[in-house]
Amino acid sequence: MNFSGTIKSKLPAVGTTIFSVMTAHAVENNAINLAQGFPDFNCHPDLKKLVSKAMDDGHNQYAPMPGLMSLREKIAIKTQELYQAIYDPEKEITIVPGGTHALYAAISATVGEGDEVIVLEPCYDSYVPAIELNGGRPVFYELKYPDYKVDWNEVKKLINFKTRMIIINTPHNPTGGVLAADDMLQLQKILDNTDVVVLSDEVYEHIIFDKQEHQSVARFPKLAERSIIVSSFGKTYHTTGWKMGYVLAPADLMKEFRKVHQFIAFSANTPIQVALSEFIDRKELYLELSAFYQEKRDYFRKLVSGSNFKVLPCNGSYFQLLNYAKITQERDIDFAVRLTREHKVASIPTSVFYKMKTDHNVLRFCFAKSNETLEKAAERLMKV
Ligand code: PMP
Ligand code: GLN
Repeated sequence: MNFSGTIKSKLPAVGTTIFSVMTAHAVENNAINLAQGFPDFNCHPDLKKLVSKAMDDGHNQYAPMPGLMSLREKIAIKTQELYQAIYDPEKEITIVPGGTHALYAAISATVGEGDEVIVLEPCYDSYVPAIELNGGRPVFYELKYPDYKVDWNEVKKLINFKTRMIIINTPHNPTGGVLAADDMLQLQKILDNTDVVVLSDEVYEHIIFDKQEHQSVARFPKLAERSIIVSSFGKTYHTTGWKMGYVLAPADLMKEFRKVHQFIAFSANTPIQVALSEFIDRKELYLELSAFYQEKRDYFRKLVSGSNFKVLPCNGSYFQLLNYAKITQERDIDFAVRLTREHKVASIPTSVFYKMKTDHNVLRFCFAKSNETLEKAAERLMKV
């Protein structure tokens, strides 16, 4: 059978995600993989023990659809402590199988045919397909290279009666930018008197540098009342392969979110929820994560500082952008592949995060790696 002529692709312009593509190139070329964002070190041994124990104790069947209440209650406490915001574990917190699932379910629950969604690009690659699969139309605002700041007056001009949602992401993948309190206040202001929903991707909330504080939309009551917040345990506990996260939203939005979530996944992994219900009490592990990654950021930047790459600012996330214009004028996709093949370091070309494949000769490198990996990679980059 051949279905290529009979199935009308819902995503005709989409291929395989760049993360799979570059990781495959890395493996094929035996290169150091600083492409896909994941740590090359293990998660905390106590967390693994708690998951094993939960399995041994028989927590191996479906969790409740919105997640284990014990974990939701702890998340409510954590959110109140960190962001002074109150979320009801019963109606306003849902445990999900990862941030990507949450983003899709949030968009699917709220965006319909012809609705416009404002997307600040470059952006994480799942946003636009999720909008398009649900009949929505992405409306792009381009963050201005090289500082990737937002001019909210320009964003405001994109809002009209069709605007259903705006997606923000802080700390930001791939740029490492963060939104300040003033950005949030400006966002709040331009959304006044609209019924636009904010989808706030905060999966890197605990990876923010130089003593800045993460400005969750949860801190801003007038924003929070229209926001769906996406959080990921994968980033916080070095467990990206576990696909676990949670969503915060006011009850009316959460009600719609859950209607979709229950038919995409129904619920998330039970033993991990049991383990996290206890492990989440160890506050120092997420409170010290920024310092841990700041050291890695600084180390990687220092290691490549004398190279032909230009090191761009990085205020959060575990991604460092490097501009290679001094080395070559090749397209970033071509250069990323050649760098993997010839110099054995894999990265992500940033043009893939733009609808029009905007190319500033910038590659993204993930520094969530052991110092040894960073040293080896930098040694190779120094020779380019
Ligand atoms: N949003 C952003 C900005 C990300 O970088 C990622 C992934 N790494 C996700 C969402 C998805 O998180 P998860 O791995 O929990 O699906
Ligand atoms: N978020 C990770 C990144 O940006 C990878 C996610 C994925 O592989 N889908 O690299």
